[in-house]
Amino acid sequence: MPGDKISEKSPVPRSALVVGGGLAGLAAAVALESVGVRVTLLEARRSLGGRAGSFEDAKSGEILDNCQHVLLGCCTNLINLYARLGVTKKVRYASTVHFLDPRGQRFDLWATPGLPAPLHLGPAMASFSALTLAQRASLVQATLAMVRLGRSGRAALEGQSFGQWLQQMDQPGPLVQRFYDPVLVSALNEQTLAVSSKYAIQVFQDAMLFNRTGYVLGLPACPLAELYARPPCQDVRLGTRVEEVIFDAGRAVGVTLHTGQKLAADAIVLAANYHAVLRWVPEAMRRCDARFAGISRLESVPILGAHLWFDQPVMTLSHAALMEGPLQWLFRKDDSGRVLHGVISAARDWVNVPHQRCLDRFTAQIKGLFPQAVGARLLHGVIVIEKRATFSPRPGVDALRPMQGPPSGGIANLFLAGDYTSTDWPATMEGAVRSGYLAAQAVLRSWLPAKKQCPQFLMPDLPLEYPADLLAPRA
Ligand SMILES: Cc1cc2nc3c(=O)[nH]c(=O)nc-3n(C[C@H](O)[C@H](O)[C@H](O)COP(=O)(O)OP(=O)(O)OC[C@H]3O[C@@H](n4cnc5c(N)ncnc54)[C@H](O)[C@@H]3O)c2cc1C
Repeated sequence: MPGDKISEKSPVPRSALVVGGGLAGLAAAVALESVGVRVTLLEARRSLGGRAGSFEDAKSGEILDNCQHVLLGCCTNLINLYARLGVTKKVRYASTVHFLDPRGQRFDLWATPGLPAPLHLGPAMASFSALTLAQRASLVQATLAMVRLGRSGRAALEGQSFGQWLQQMDQPGPLVQRFYDPVLVSALNEQTLAVSSKYAIQVFQDAMLFNRTGYVLGLPACPLAELYARPPCQDVRLGTRVEEVIFDAGRAVGVTLHTGQKLAADAIVLAANYHAVLRWVPEAMRRCDARFAGISRLESVPILGAHLWFDQPVMTLSHAALMEGPLQWLFRKDDSGRVLHGVISAARDWVNVPHQRCLDRFTAQIKGLFPQAVGARLLHGVIVIEKRATFSPRPGVDALRPMQGPPSGGIANLFLAGDYTSTDWPATMEGAVRSGYLAAQAVLRSWLPAKKQCPQFLMPDLPLEYPADLLAPRA
């Protein structure tokens, strides 16, 4: 069981400083503390969660999420972290995924009871009339090819764009716009044709093709920050900004806080974003540690989130993937359907658009989708544009992502956690949690004798079900 205590004779408890209380830092801290390490978690903001956190809206006084965050059934590590935090019941799962065309016509994706993967979504896809019969046949052909690739086959396609792969598979343009785009642009925060085939195919394999529980949509039923309100971690210091990392003879030994206070520990886990990490580690030291060679070439991509309050109910569905923009997803945020949240991923074109113009466009789109919204008035709208939302998962990106632990000759005692580190996942909550667990494992590995078994925090992927496992090669 992940989280087992290390035996009495092992060299822990020792101490670790975790800098950054986003999901990566939180996962690292919770994992290390679970095996008896003395952890101090330092977070600059007044609450945990980082990009997957919440803030107080100045006008309404409401606690709003930075942006709606969605998880899937295949996010095994995030779901494990929620269990460790005791908040499993605060996430609601939708087993029917709704798609809407621009006129509001609804098409659903659901799993047929009793059918195993990859057949479980077959009946829903067969009646998914948003696509022509020819488009559905093309999709079946491509998804079968994805199953046959298995996990090892998709890894080998890391350097190829998904646009090239779709072309090889003869996938028609309208199918890309009506199906691949709504699924992938939000999952990967990048244009469908530009992403690495590895990550695009991973979304389909892990969420839709390998296991019948992979696709279910998890929506937190409370503000995100509430999920992290009581972490099983004794020393959490909020409002505590780290100014610099202290190095001594090529090792990381501590940090200096904004107050000037210095803290020391046996291991330093940097779980802030990579821009901060590059500021903290001097160039001369970065040159000796291969982890830092590619980080500055990662490209950040923005996401726009729109919080919308209407004067009357406008939406009854809990969520909807929109087949045409500008908003790509809509979520109902209250029981009555007056409060909505809309999201645009890969939102480069929206960064400089005046907020009122955004709100006008979104209101018009919503009125076109829902007849009950036609007479509604937008009372209040808050636009949040996160310019550095996630890195772009383009072909070749894996070579830029650093491992969590130091390579031989690298900076000893310095560990990295964050969605941008090497996890085999795109920048998501799941990727962040994986990075935190991997960093915790790397810390313990560096302390334990080579022969001693290291605790494993990383949860396995959902297993391939029969008959998907017959088609896919063994990894
Ligand atoms: C708008 C938006 C929508 C998203 N939607 C989804 C989604 O639906 N599903 C999904 O799975 N993922 C989504 N993501 C991605 C997901 O939020 C991130 O991948 C994940 O939260 C990253 O976690 P992290 O811990 O790596 O980094 P962060 O969350 O950035 O955590 C870093 C932490 O370090 C702290 N910090 C920085 N500097 C200092 C300092 N000097 N001292 C102390 N602390 C410091 C920061 O305050 C922050 O809390 C979305 C991201 C954004 C921005």
